[in-house]
Amino acid sequence: MLKIQNYTYARSLDEAYAALVKNPKNCIIGGMIWLKMEDKVVPEAIDLSGLGLDQIEEEEDCFKIGAMVTLRELELHEQLNKATGNVIHDAVKDIVGVQLRNLATIGGSVFSRFGFSDVLCALMCLDASVQLYHAGEMSIQEFSKSNIQRDIITHITIKKNDWKSAFVCLRRSATDISVLNVAVSKSNQYHICVGARPGVATRYDVEIDDIDKVASMIQNKVICGSNMRGSKEYRSHLVKVLTARALRKVESQDAGTN
Ligand SMILES: Cc1cc2nc3c(=O)[nH]c(=O)nc-3n(C[C@H](O)[C@H](O)[C@H](O)COP(=O)(O)OP(=O)(O)OC[C@H]3O[C@@H](n4cnc5c(N)ncnc54)[C@H](O)[C@@H]3O)c2cc1C
Repeated sequence: MLKIQNYTYARSLDEAYAALVKNPKNCIIGGMIWLKMEDKVVPEAIDLSGLGLDQIEEEEDCFKIGAMVTLRELELHEQLNKATGNVIHDAVKDIVGVQLRNLATIGGSVFSRFGFSDVLCALMCLDASVQLYHAGEMSIQEFSKSNIQRDIITHITIKKNDWKSAFVCLRRSATDISVLNVAVSKSNQYHICVGARPGVATRYDVEIDDIDKVASMIQNKVICGSNMRGSKEYRSHLVKVLTARALRKVESQDAGTN
């Protein structure tokens, strides 16, 4: 069971960060969807909900997404999804149900760096970057490989790039986590991201001549593992099938706009 001993409603990011680093067991609260399932004692839980981080701001060349924006808000944001080829909508729409998506935040989702994360996989193919209060800005790929623990995500930024994109995944049942997920985007190059391997998503930047050849090449590169949701061999097979499927979706989007 989660036990919170003290609660801080932060009035500024300075205050939130000072409280976070005071004790290694203190933690930031996002939507608390994951935290509430953990079995630990938190001396001080720090709430960011008063800091205006619940906005998706469209700027001339990017979208700036506050850490407290919920998955449901991402799913429903028309301009963001139009500009990014709907990959974010498609990645979050099957995460459990609307009630969960109304609470779970992008900050909590990215910070957790879950191997199974559909959110991380989709953001990675869009070249997203993570703004951290202390460490500054870094690419989502760099952040996903890092072991940063004592910092605060304030924003996620997605540059506008005339994205064509697709997200596909396989779940054993409707509300389960993905056995494998694949996000593909195309701007000047193709970015192919494969997550739930079950390790955290990994990205390959490629030129495409033949979709099936590229899907086989990605299959050979991606390191898969086994867990209760699927064997290494099954996942490896899915890498090829889902990569080809996602690439065809992007091609058809591209054809639709030509
Ligand atoms: C039953 C269940 C099923 C799920 N299924 C899926 C799925 O299919 N696909 C998928 O992608 N995800 C899935 N998730 C994960 C979910 O979408 C969220 O990623 C997860 O709940 C974390 O988001 P949160 O806002 O609830 O974070 P919290 O639980 O509040 O926090 C999680 C961690 O992040 C830290 N944190 C939160 N916000 C910040 C911040 N701004 N800066 C620094 N640290 C921060 C917290 O301290 C904590 O360590 C599932 C979760 C549950 C509980």
